[in-house]
Amino acid sequence: VIDPDIIFKTGFLDEVYKLRTVKPVVTRFPPEPNGYLHIGHAKAIAVNFGFAKYHGGKCFLRFDDTNPEAEEQKFFDAIKEMISWLGFTPCAITHSSDNFDLLYEKAEQLIQLGKAYVCQCNDAEIKLQRGGEKGASPRYRCKHAEQSVEENLQKFRDMRDGKYKPKEAFLRMKQDITSGNPQNWDLAAYRVLDAPHFRTGSKWKIYPTYDFTHCLCDSFEGITHSLCTTEFVLSRESYEWLNKTLGVYEPMQREYGRLALSGTVLSKRKIMKLVDEKIVRDWDDPRLYTLKGIKRRGVPPGSILEFVGELGVTTSNSVISIQRFEQCVRKYLERTVPRLMLVLDPVPVIIEDADELDGTSFSIPFSPKDPKMGSHEVKFSKTVYIDRSDFREEADPSFFRLAPGKTVGLLSVPYPIKAVSFTKDDSTGKVTEIRAVLDKETKKPKTYIQWVPPESAGSRKVEVRVYGPLFKSDDPNAAPGGFLEDINPDNETIYRDALIESGFDEVKKRAPWPEAAGESELGQGGPESVRFQGMRIAYFAMDSDSTDNHVVLNRIVPLKEDAGK
Ligand code: ATP
Ligand code: MG
Ligand code: MG
Repeated sequence: VIDPDIIFKTGFLDEVYKLRTVKPVVTRFPPEPNGYLHIGHAKAIAVNFGFAKYHGGKCFLRFDDTNPEAEEQKFFDAIKEMISWLGFTPCAITHSSDNFDLLYEKAEQLIQLGKAYVCQCNDAEIKLQRGGEKGASPRYRCKHAEQSVEENLQKFRDMRDGKYKPKEAFLRMKQDITSGNPQNWDLAAYRVLDAPHFRTGSKWKIYPTYDFTHCLCDSFEGITHSLCTTEFVLSRESYEWLNKTLGVYEPMQREYGRLALSGTVLSKRKIMKLVDEKIVRDWDDPRLYTLKGIKRRGVPPGSILEFVGELGVTTSNSVISIQRFEQCVRKYLERTVPRLMLVLDPVPVIIEDADELDGTSFSIPFSPKDPKMGSHEVKFSKTVYIDRSDFREEADPSFFRLAPGKTVGLLSVPYPIKAVSFTKDDSTGKVTEIRAVLDKETKKPKTYIQWVPPESAGSRKVEVRVYGPLFKSDDPNAAPGGFLEDINPDNETIYRDALIESGFDEVKKRAPWPEAAGESELGQGGPESVRFQGMRIAYFAMDSDSTDNHVVLNRIVPLKEDAGK
């Protein structure tokens, strides 16, 4: 069992804490509400919320909403939901836009300090000022940098009042163009944007940039440790510069490595394409690694935190295989969910001499290892269903399941059965019925298989969706012809007539199974928290397409890594 707190006790995050051992720790998770969260964001959530929690502090959920053109309400709601699903509660939900007035004030102050100017150069000119192609030519400032404070203030107010069109003017910070770090080369602080903001409406014609906003909002909220990903390493200097120059409280920024999964795509643009092309059903498709998708598939939130804990947090970016992720999920499910018998592709077996057993019930434990999970009754019957793959028309020395003349055990049933004959449908070539007898001589059959009684004895017909990898290659982003040419045609197999034993009703009633997990349950309770091991096959969870009469199950992960689909 991985201790999810391990990432705070040792290594990078422990070092970060030692650099500033204050109390209370205050952190923030700052998503831009322009898309759905993915597995990489789960790391950022675990790091920011977890770090604060571990040190007895608090974490804000701050929506970084300074690009009105890309942002929408639905993304807010989805982001909030995913954070609580992962078991975290923000101390408050804030928005960068809450601070638009204060940020504007700070911009005027910066102008007053002679540390910002309104520039009216075009993109080509700015590029030249910053060293031109490859930064090869000497950097210089334009004439706008020489404007007086009064002139800059007037022009900035004109920007605010809508007197400039987009791109005609922008506010630049006056930093240090002699520095080797491009983040010091007079970055933009405000730009003119003729776009309504979904929270502030048409109040603003100018919007602050990330570089101006983030460090100040961190400061306003009293963030002690501003943890972000390594693409912001160079930004640390501009982050510190602005807070220091304005004389406001200075949070400490430190950077950790991003998390990516191989064998899938995480970028919004690419997932959008998969949805548009109907390769997946929606953003919460279980074949995707959006948090919505992973949740719907039935992956428990606790296993995601364990996964992040197992990988650890360092300054390097990591690309992790889906297999490694699934291994972590599997280990978690192994100790936390009950077991049931599920038959994906049922074939009836008529046990000719089972009259005296017909209608008796067997008690089956929900877990062979954990008596706390209890047990349930399954009715035996003269006709049982087994999986088609557990029967062969001809006996074979390497096949230890059912075949004519061969004996196999039925899980939890005292007597094994021996097949005597079978019937086939000539048009389909499929076996339609197997006849068998009890084999009271064989005490220890080589193999036990799962079985279910008919629907009349309490079983239930269910639809089961078994997912394979969505892509053929490990790096669909680099696939010849692009990721859309790399789709694995076998990415979903649907079993419409699968049968599940009656214990499913109790698993559903008791879900989620905190007594099994032995830990406080993280935010869950939807259909996806009805999870179980389908013995000998895989782990499954109930899909949100389920209704009272039609249960749909998703395969979460197979029991073994190489089990294919
Ligand atoms: P994407 O482009 O994948 O949506 P982003 O950086 O634009 O990523 P934000 O909404 O800005 O997404 O992300 C919120 C927080 O999550 C940021 O602090 C960001 O650094 C972090 N984050 C985003 N992707 C990852 C990742 N793959 N691994 C770790 N942290 C991440
Ligand atoms: Mg984003
Ligand atoms: Mg971002």
